[in-house]
Parts: sequence; C-alpha cells; structure tokens
Amino acid sequence: MDKAKQILKDVFGYDSFRPLQSEIIQNILNKRDTLVIMPTGGGKSVCYQIPALIFEGLTVVISPLISLMKDQVEQLKQLGVQTVLLNSSLSAEAYRYNFQSVKNNKAKLLYIAPESLGKEEISNLLNSTKIDCITVDEAHCISEWGHDFRKDYRQLGTFRNKFPSAVCIGFTATATPRVQDDIIKNLKMLNAKKFIASFNRKNLFLQVIPKRNSFQQTIEFLNRHKNQSGIIYCFSRRQVDELSEDLSNLGFSTKPYHAGLSDDERNKNQDLFIKDEIQIIVATIAFGMGINKSNVRFVLHHDLPKNIESYYQEIGRSGRDGLRAECLLLFSYADISKINYFIDQKEDDVERFSAKVHLDAIVKYAETEICRRYPLINYFGENYKNDNCVMCDNCIADVKEMGDITIPAQKFLSAVKRTGEIFGVNYIIDVLLGNDSDRIVGNGHQNLSLFGIGKEFNKKQWQTFAHQFIRKELLARDLEFGSLKLSEKASGVLFKNEKVLGYIKEPKTPSHKLKSDKVYDEELFEHLRKKRKDLADEFNVPPYVIFSDRSLTEMATKYPQDESSFLNITGVGIRKLESYGNIFLSIIKSYCFRKNINIVPVKQTRSRRQNRHEMGKPKYVVVSESYNDGSSIDELAKEYEVKPQTIISHVARYANDGNKIRTNGLLEKLSVTAEYHQKVFEVFNIEGTTTLKNIYDKFNQEVSYEDLHILRLIYLQKIKVQL
Ligand code: ADP
Ligand code: ZN
Repeated sequence: MDKAKQILKDVFGYDSFRPLQSEIIQNILNKRDTLVIMPTGGGKSVCYQIPALIFEGLTVVISPLISLMKDQVEQLKQLGVQTVLLNSSLSAEAYRYNFQSVKNNKAKLLYIAPESLGKEEISNLLNSTKIDCITVDEAHCISEWGHDFRKDYRQLGTFRNKFPSAVCIGFTATATPRVQDDIIKNLKMLNAKKFIASFNRKNLFLQVIPKRNSFQQTIEFLNRHKNQSGIIYCFSRRQVDELSEDLSNLGFSTKPYHAGLSDDERNKNQDLFIKDEIQIIVATIAFGMGINKSNVRFVLHHDLPKNIESYYQEIGRSGRDGLRAECLLLFSYADISKINYFIDQKEDDVERFSAKVHLDAIVKYAETEICRRYPLINYFGENYKNDNCVMCDNCIADVKEMGDITIPAQKFLSAVKRTGEIFGVNYIIDVLLGNDSDRIVGNGHQNLSLFGIGKEFNKKQWQTFAHQFIRKELLARDLEFGSLKLSEKASGVLFKNEKVLGYIKEPKTPSHKLKSDKVYDEELFEHLRKKRKDLADEFNVPPYVIFSDRSLTEMATKYPQDESSFLNITGVGIRKLESYGNIFLSIIKSYCFRKNINIVPVKQTRSRRQNRHEMGKPKYVVVSESYNDGSSIDELAKEYEVKPQTIISHVARYANDGNKIRTNGLLEKLSVTAEYHQKVFEVFNIEGTTTLKNIYDKFNQEVSYEDLHILRLIYLQKIKVQL
C-alpha cells in the first residue's frame, strides 16, 4: 500500500485517498474479486488504475462507451501512463501501434469495448499476454435487471473464465441488490468483496425554488455563474431549442443537445462543451452519458425531472473535480401535471403505477423542508443521518422558532374553500395578497371578503405556509392538476379553532460564494484558464485533461513559485510538473510580480540564488533562452558563428536538464515531410529514445541524423498524445 500511496502522489498528484479507495485497492492487490458501487464522481478510476501500475501484467478495462474510453486514455497519457485503446474508430496505423504495444508488454492498461473481445485477433493477442486484472466498467450493463442492459456484456463471464489468475473488478453506480447479485454471478466473480460508497456527494449544493418566471430565473442563475460550465436540463426538445436560442440571443454561450438533432450536430455541440468552447449546454435527458468533464460547475433543472434516479444522475454530472457545484431545480405544479399527462399515455398499468410512484418521490423531494439529502440519499437505501449538511437551501435557511400559525392557516384554508377547491397554491396566494389578475377578476374572486386579507406576509412566506399545510394534511393536492382540496382535519382548524403549529421561514438565495467556498484569485485563475485552453487545443484534448478546475483554483490561492510548491498542488504529479510546470509557474510568477504579491520566504532566497546563477550562466543555457524567446536556430548560428547543428545540440542539452523548449522553431528546421514525423514518433514510443541508429536503419536512411536529433527533441517535449 505504500507503493499505492506513492503512485497516488507521484502520478496522480493527490495527497490522500478518498473514502474506500485504499480498501478497494488493497483488496485488488490481494487479487480478490471486487465489486464497487460508487456514484459518478466518487473517484473510481484510481481504484483500478493504481493496481494496474503495480501489477506486472496487463489490466484490461472493458467499457461500453468509446467517448469515455478515449477520455480516460487521454487523461492517463497526460499522466505519463502507458495506456492504449483498441477500437475500430482508430486509424489502421494507430490500431497496429496499439496492438503492438500490448503484444510487447509496453502497455499497462488496455481499454476495449466488450464486442471487440470476441474478435479472433484480439482473442489471440490477449491469450498470449499476461493479464493480471480485468476491470468491467458500468458493470450493471451485464444485468437484465439494470436500466442499461447490453447484449455484448453477457459474454464477459466466459471471457473472465479464460483468465483465472486475473483479478476481476466490476464498477457500477447502480445500487439495487438484484443488479449487484447479477453482476457477481455473470462475471463469475469468486468470493467477491463488495464495497458500497456513500451516495452523498458533499460538494453539490442542492436548491429548489418555485418556478415563476423561469426565463428570468434562469438568467439570474446564469449571471451568478459567469465564465463557468454548466448544463440546463429541459423537459422537451422544443423547450431546449427555444431556451438555447433565447439565451444565445442575450449573449450567453450556449448550444442545444437532444435526440432530435443530427448525430453530427449533437457530437459537435457536445465536443464544444467538453472543450470549453461554449459554456452552457441546454439539453434533454439525452445529454451526459458519455462525458467525463470534471469542471461542470452547475446543473439547472428548468423543469421537474421524472424521478429521483434521473435527477440524481443529472446533478451528479457536476462537481466531479470535488469543487463546489450548484444544482438548482425550478419547481412548479404545472410540471407535475405535464409529466402526469405523459404517464397517462402509458398503456401498461404496472408501468403507469410505477411512474406515478417515482414522480411522487421527486415531488416529495422538491417539497421537503428538512435537509434535501434525507429524501435524496435515503432513496438509494443509504441511511443518511446528518442534521445539517450546510450544502442545501433548507439547511442554510434562517428558521424562526416554531410558532402559532393558526391565523394564516385559517385564512388560507378559507380561501381554498371559498374559491371552490379547484385552484392551486399560487392562485390562492394571489387571492390572499389581493392581486387582481385577469384570472381572478374573470372568476369574480376580487369580490370575496377574504380578497387581500393576507398582506402581512409575502408570497414566499405564503408558499412556505402552504407546503406546511399540505404536509400536515390539512390540504390534499391533486397530483394531476395541482388543485387543493380541504381534508377532514381542516374543519377542526376552521370551525373548532384547533391550533396549528409551524414555522415561518425566510428562504435565502445562496450567494455565489458561501463561507465554505474557497476564495481564490479570480484574475489569476482567468490567466491560467486561458493558458490551459491554449494547451488543450494544441494537444487536442479537453482542458480538464490538462489540469482540473481544482488544480487551477489551488494555484490561484497558493501562488506556487517553484517546482516543489507546484508539486504540492492537488492533481500535479511528476509528469504534469515536467510538461506544464514551467509554463504555469511563469504565469504565476509574473502575475505575482506585477501585483506585488509576495510569497515569502521561499521566493526571496531562491531568487537571490537564481540571480547569482544568471551572471555565470553556461553558454548552452544562454543560447537556449534566446531561442525560447523567439530567435531562430539560423539567427543564433550566425550570431555565435557556429553551425545550426551546434545550436540544436545546445538546445537539446538545455531540454535534457528538464527545461521546456519552444518546438515550433525546430519544426522549421526539419527536411523530412510531416508524414515521417509521426512514424518516427511511433518508433520512439515503442523503442525509446536512447539510440537513433536503429531508427536511422529502419527508415533505410531516409531520415537524416540531423532530423532524427530534432525529432527526438520535439518528441521528448511533447507529451505522447499523438495516437
Ligand atoms: P468516477 O469515474 O467515479 O465518476 P473519477 O474517477 O473520474 O470518478 O474521479 C472523479 C474526480 O475525482 C476526478 O477528477 C479524479 O481525478 C478526482 N479524484 C479521484 N480520487 C481522488 C483523490 N484521492 N484525491 C483527489 N481527487 C481525486
Ligand atoms: Zn441539507
């Protein structure tokens, strides 16, 4: 486990394990089959990736979604881990290369789709390879009881049996015991140990507010999340299109996503979102399955979701980096009717009934006045007990003492009765507040004696009362239409003066930053974010693959100015330090210099030492620094009266010291065509970079040594993401 901890720090850049991670890793290292039930964002990847780096043989990771596999492979490559994907979407060349690196035991992890396992070529390859671990992601796909059964998963049991000495791990976020048993049985797991992580995602702030003017509410919410990524979920495709367009017209950076768009357009919009080209995706439930984006900072439910499972899944797509994310649900009774309407179209009685039960559960969640984590987490069978989570609207609301609310109860109940028990909460409140809307005037309700008798409270307070009356069963709400009816209990309050006890709550809108939020230097964060985006584009990966938001906010809090403090940033391991340390450090340093931010004493002693060095700098350093500052190889050769080749070797030496160098200036010096660059890199990937002779011979001397020197330099600079 010491080794595991070391890898966690050196490769992944994390200081400590999250709950269950170390137990799971220990169990896997003991080669005991393992089933892990963990919510999205719980941190399951390192649970199998760390053992994969410790095992001698290969770890095969089976996953149903190409996009997720690609994402994982990119992230691992950025961490310097030998990882490959075998899939038909690859070019023939890349496929061959990946195939080869499994064959000669270079790859530590192989990501593959279940359907590929049946192919003879793959089967032969794996049979001749030492496999230490088989990881099955989204393992519930193997169960017909799950919501996502896939036929191809069924053969995984047979596959697993072929490798009895490999340990088998299943991961899923689906919690039902039936599905769990099915996974263990079908994967032929031996004495599997189960690990069930908590479904409490502590960094998600949960809030529900009554939907009034939803467009206005959406804009206000988005204005609180400037420059942040987020998802807005809507009920229908039409709403998605309209809302996305309206927001876009107001200058928000948004794109729509739903099953009615062409595949091309959907993929394009998703890609723009993942790459931080656009900030907001307006989507139906169709969005989110195949994405791993860790910096989703908010999820807004513009409409009521159909059940708690989908709601949980959808909010779960935010805050995967562990930083605070905000989840707001706009709740209206009209939405309940809308969903009910669709449920009523279902022909199957059982299905209809079950859908109503699910709807009821989400409505109860929306209406609850206790901590929202109770109904949410208990729904998944977990016993959640915390009294105050500090991360939901109800827990942070100012609650006044319980008091006598008989008078408002009498007023409200009378209004329900006098208007005929056919109206919903908001209509009754309007009557009590004396709002002579068209609808009220149309019904003649402005003439009622109780019209306007509730002005001592505001609308929000009345809504809070109304919910209490419903929960105390003084009123029953029609699930379908939202209309209120008096119950028998109500007559005791109206006619026998029975007391009603309750509380007056003043709901608070959480400000953008709460005490629990880390405060960071937003200006510096913006500089870092821009650089991250540039690098991401250069390497053609999503920005969060370079650094998570969490890493950037930490940089913008701690202002690291040297390598060792940079290594202390969460998510910075050795490889990330090598690849990006200088780039980000120089931004931070010059920012601190401009702003007069002093991180003492480390900086002072160090910079004095550096100054001394400056005076007696070796030539190769001086040359390379000029090169990095923009001088070309040829210019420098002239200036120093040497051959260009000499300048290149100076630069190479400088790079060997671990310094970053500018690669575009080198590309200009190459005489072979771009087609060869890639080929040479591939050979480096397989054979390493120590000797150039082999390569020289391999290409029949078509690539000169000069070029090979330059290519090696470029290769060592770039992270190996070419494939
Ligand atoms: P899942 O696959 O369970 O949805 P991931 O494995 O993608 O979750 O992890 C979610 C996020 O948490 C990732 O950004 C990951 O790097 C981060 N993470 C995982 N383990 C740790 C840890 N021990 N400390 C800090 N961050 C972690
Ligand atoms: Zn709470």
